[in-house]
Amino acid sequence: MEQEFFFPPPSLPSLHIARVLLDNKRDFLLDYAIPEALEKEIVLGTHVRVPFKNGFGRGIVVDILEKQNSTLKPLLCRENKELLVPQNILKLCKWIADYYCSPLISALQAALPDSISRATIKPKEDLLLSLPAHLDPLYIQSKIKRAKKEKEALDFLQKWQPAWLSELPKKTGISRNIWKNLLRKGLIVGLSQKKAETYFPIVPNLSPPKCLTEEQSHAVHLIEEEMHKGLPQPILLFGVTGSGKTEVYMRTIEKCLKQKKQVLLLVPEISLTPQLLERIKARFTAQGASIGCWHSRISRSEKATLWYDILRGKIDILVGTRSALFAPFPSLGLIIVDEEHESSFKQEESPRYHGRDVAVMRARLEGALIILGSATPSLESYYNAMSGKYKLIELKRRVEERKLPSVSIVDLRKRKRRLSQQEKKGTGFFLKPEELVSDELKEAIEKRLERKEQIILYINHRGYSSSLQCSDCGYVLPCPNCSISLSFHKNLGILNCHLCNYSASVPSFCPMCRAVGAFKFLGSGTEKVEEAIQQLFSSARVLRMDSDTMKKKGAMERALRAFGEGQFDILVGTQMVAKGLDFPHVSLVGIVSIDGLLHLPDFRASEKSFQQLLQVSGRSGRGSVEGEVFVQTRTPYHPAIQFARHHDYLGFVDQELEFRKTLFYPPFCRAILIRFIGNPEEKVKFMTEAFTKEIKDALKDSNALISEPTQAPIAKIKGKYHYQLFIRCQKVMEISQKLKKLIFGKDSEMGINIRIDVDPQDLLK
Ligand SMILES: [Zn+2]
Ligand SMILES: [Zn+2]
Repeated sequence: MEQEFFFPPPSLPSLHIARVLLDNKRDFLLDYAIPEALEKEIVLGTHVRVPFKNGFGRGIVVDILEKQNSTLKPLLCRENKELLVPQNILKLCKWIADYYCSPLISALQAALPDSISRATIKPKEDLLLSLPAHLDPLYIQSKIKRAKKEKEALDFLQKWQPAWLSELPKKTGISRNIWKNLLRKGLIVGLSQKKAETYFPIVPNLSPPKCLTEEQSHAVHLIEEEMHKGLPQPILLFGVTGSGKTEVYMRTIEKCLKQKKQVLLLVPEISLTPQLLERIKARFTAQGASIGCWHSRISRSEKATLWYDILRGKIDILVGTRSALFAPFPSLGLIIVDEEHESSFKQEESPRYHGRDVAVMRARLEGALIILGSATPSLESYYNAMSGKYKLIELKRRVEERKLPSVSIVDLRKRKRRLSQQEKKGTGFFLKPEELVSDELKEAIEKRLERKEQIILYINHRGYSSSLQCSDCGYVLPCPNCSISLSFHKNLGILNCHLCNYSASVPSFCPMCRAVGAFKFLGSGTEKVEEAIQQLFSSARVLRMDSDTMKKKGAMERALRAFGEGQFDILVGTQMVAKGLDFPHVSLVGIVSIDGLLHLPDFRASEKSFQQLLQVSGRSGRGSVEGEVFVQTRTPYHPAIQFARHHDYLGFVDQELEFRKTLFYPPFCRAILIRFIGNPEEKVKFMTEAFTKEIKDALKDSNALISEPTQAPIAKIKGKYHYQLFIRCQKVMEISQKLKKLIFGKDSEMGINIRIDVDPQDLLK
């Protein structure tokens, strides 16, 4: 009869109700009365213990309501005084859960270190132990019964709390197991804590702030004006590649630090921005600011330590990737989202939030200034600037009057016809390099090698070839788990699926027609380009950069440094080489192929290709030598290519917006993609159709445009079939709420997985 102990004496009336999100339950919210004795203790974000079923449960207070219902059970106690979900972060998570149609618990888990997002702490490392506040002595009695050692342990802690778990067995003679038992029973609580460390060694060399161009100082001035407003408007800083956005960031950061506020700088990927990091470290550590760095490669305990330091105001500037946007700054003054157009700001698992958009929301909630910076702003952001939602600040010229590189288009269709007359079967491992590198590009490379300048070659596929085809019967080797072809990786000698990572060796004969040695390597990847370049220029030093070669920790930093120091002549890579690199000796960029990207079945294909083209091109001519770019393509008249050729962002945007408006696509509406995933295919198809009816019914008054259900562009991924429904609407919140009610819990009932993606970025996977 444990339950009896849970009720405080009836003479204590309570005034408020706590809505508690229970641990380890999928958005299980329960209301409890707050006992008067705890009125002051229980605030939003408190970890509490509550009666649940026949025992107790733990959870987080996510709402405090006026009391109306007097029959509620009272909550038991506050779990730990030191644990608290910061209210600003809780608010942000609630918004994410509502907008992105995800469970609140997963938003909290994405936002907080483990020890904060759950009230239950698992003793993983060393823990600081203490007794929970307000625990009923009778309840404790009932839990330990006659266990003498446990009683002793509690008495010890009563006198000497808090104490480290690692030190207690020695001090008390009570074994570690006893302490852990008490933790498990909830009679003591443990907090993982570490002392603050320095995150970066002080960099001695001080790079003096550069002189600002007229455009830059005007931008800084406009930003400063906005900063002093009570509720600053988001700023879109649209500056061509090489226009010196970073220096504008730096000046703004300086101004924010002077106001004793903190700065958050979000970047798409930390290892791609060593140059930016170096500059920030050098400039601001010299001014006495402490800088933190947050990314997926730091360990959990490092993250927890950093998190507490941020909470206590010990970190002035945090540079980080997407999830850094939940850093619990006490007084956030400025958020900068660099390369705001990058789709890596979108999280592709629940909660499927867009880091840039959540950052805008956070800035608004906390009255901070936000700057979105890019040379190729996303259509969404540019549209927001046009409609007056954001303030547009432009940097139209490169620093030191440098010119944008000249772009030449190489029409591969003409060359193909020329080749095919002499072409033989083209099978086996023998590559004709001229198939990949046109005469024009080859000549340009030769010239740069002679002049000891550097070259970047871009191709949007890794591996050797994107598929293997039998030249006798035309059969293409597919992945057994996904409906895409297997890529060939020559260095490893394997076939690999880029979706599910399935690997196999190359079969010795065609599984369809049993022809031997008839495979052709279709489509090119980074390995093939590397090989072709080595064959054409045997003395050139080539560095390949893709996720295959950059797997190891620090590999990217080392590679970029080596290239920067001139240890290599040519850098071959995937989109990695398109992001923010700044090498003054690069005077030539060759886009070996981008056609695969242009024709993806995605309404953003054109926008993404255009951004990619402009970004890669922008790596050229950043030093004193003028830059040149070659784009090899089979569709030379594609608008993305033609506008990129003239660096004409506005021209592209005009045409693309017209197209989106006509077809009612974002930014003229909001999109929601619902995926139905499972096995077997007939069942998924049937469920999709059945569910579509329900959704249409539920949304019939919402003014939403709901497509007919279809098979996903890639029908099978990782052994599961995908069907989808595409919804377009004006007000996401309203639709999101209705979908949440309709779908949560249904998928397990139906035996398939339902995935809701609000503002989807990747329509294929
Ligand atoms: Zn065959
Ligand atoms: Zn696969």
